[in-house]
Amino acid sequence: MGYRYFKEEHEIFRKQVRDFCEKELAPHHEEWEEAGLFPRWVFEKAGELGFLGIRCPEQYGGSNCEYWYTVVWAEELPRCQSAGVALSLMVQTDMATPAIVAHGTEEQKQEFLVPAIQGKKIGAICVTEPGAGSDVAAIRSTAKKDGDYYIINGSKTFITNGTRADWLTLAVKTRPEKGYSGVSLFLFPTTTPGFTVTRKLHKLGQRSSDTAELAFEDCKLHKKYLLGEENKGFYYIMEGFQYERLVGAVSGLAGAKLVFEQTLKFCKERTVFGKPVSSHQANAHQFVNFATELEAAQALVYHCCDMLNRGENAIKEVSMCKLYVGELAVRLVDFCLQMHGGYGYIEEYPVCRAYRDTKLITIGGGSSQVMREIIARMMQL
Ligand SMILES: Cc1cc2nc3c(=O)[nH]c(=O)nc-3n(C[C@H](O)[C@H](O)[C@H](O)COP(=O)(O)OP(=O)(O)OC[C@H]3O[C@@H](n4cnc5c(N)ncnc54)[C@H](O)[C@@H]3O)c2cc1C
Repeated sequence: MGYRYFKEEHEIFRKQVRDFCEKELAPHHEEWEEAGLFPRWVFEKAGELGFLGIRCPEQYGGSNCEYWYTVVWAEELPRCQSAGVALSLMVQTDMATPAIVAHGTEEQKQEFLVPAIQGKKIGAICVTEPGAGSDVAAIRSTAKKDGDYYIINGSKTFITNGTRADWLTLAVKTRPEKGYSGVSLFLFPTTTPGFTVTRKLHKLGQRSSDTAELAFEDCKLHKKYLLGEENKGFYYIMEGFQYERLVGAVSGLAGAKLVFEQTLKFCKERTVFGKPVSSHQANAHQFVNFATELEAAQALVYHCCDMLNRGENAIKEVSMCKLYVGELAVRLVDFCLQMHGGYGYIEEYPVCRAYRDTKLITIGGGSSQVMREIIARMMQL
């Protein structure tokens, strides 16, 4: 492909992540998928290898690298063959912790960021509620000031890592009467009395990653846990979304490419009516169409990574990227499963699970419809 973005040092790092994923994680993927959870040592090992603090400052145990190392991390994760494990790890590295790096106090960094980078404590990003997902400004959980404390009430749902997170990056309303200007972020230790994991949710895909419903009942949280400024939480979330959406697209595309390659191999070997499935013209042309779209998607993904790496505003491009990659991946896995015939419907073929796992890309972290809304606004439509 010959993209100019990666240098020798990135490729050395790529090999380290790939070895970890292929040798240490992939052998367990079926067991973890069935259990609906993977062991905590995965976080600890990833921490020991330096994968959980790629762009974090060195004084907190991070590596202070530029964005292309995060790109390598997200691209290699699908090789663990478990989209759920990849999701949970990316929540730790690119969704729950970046706001602490950007807005946390020294004390907060010591308490939450350092053990997160070490993989000793698991974090979750906690925004979605039963009544509000796409519309973040409509969340109803509240934090009411009471002297040096805030009293937190409400509920959250669909929270990745939710059944066992040690802390949450939690969005609540500090001014319930306001919309986006009433949202604040807190760092919330899950040992706080009044906090409960109400339910573990059973999902279509991404099953090795735990997803939970959470409840907060009169949780008394010291004001030192307010992250950044009060009522600025919405802006912090939106700031983080660019990075969150882009790693999702990077990893989603890398995963789709793996499925495509596996399918191509299968279809070159399997014959129907005397020749390989892939050489029937009707199929060959579809393989070509998808190969072309994958190249186009890759160029868009790297263009967005380059923009973020240079500190440019890439909201429109990243939204386009998430939209395009998500919808391409869903169409692609459908085609790939079809090309496997009956085997595609059987669990022992990776495409079967990929079909279930992939759908999340068009929903999580902002759905395709929300991406279109953002792009439409930026096009002043
Ligand atoms: C497996 C999984 C893991 C997740 N992990 C997390 C997590 O760790 N933390 C977290 O906070 N959240 C998490 N989520 C939640 C996810 O981000 C939300 O599901 C998503 O943002 C959509 O919100 P919603 O489900 O409330 O749907 P809704 O917002 O109710 O949307 C319903 C439908 O309306 C569409 N829609 C929304 N706005 C518009 C519009 N303006 N015009 C037209 N159509 C529109 C949506 O696209 C969707 O099709 C996770 C979800 C899943 C399934």
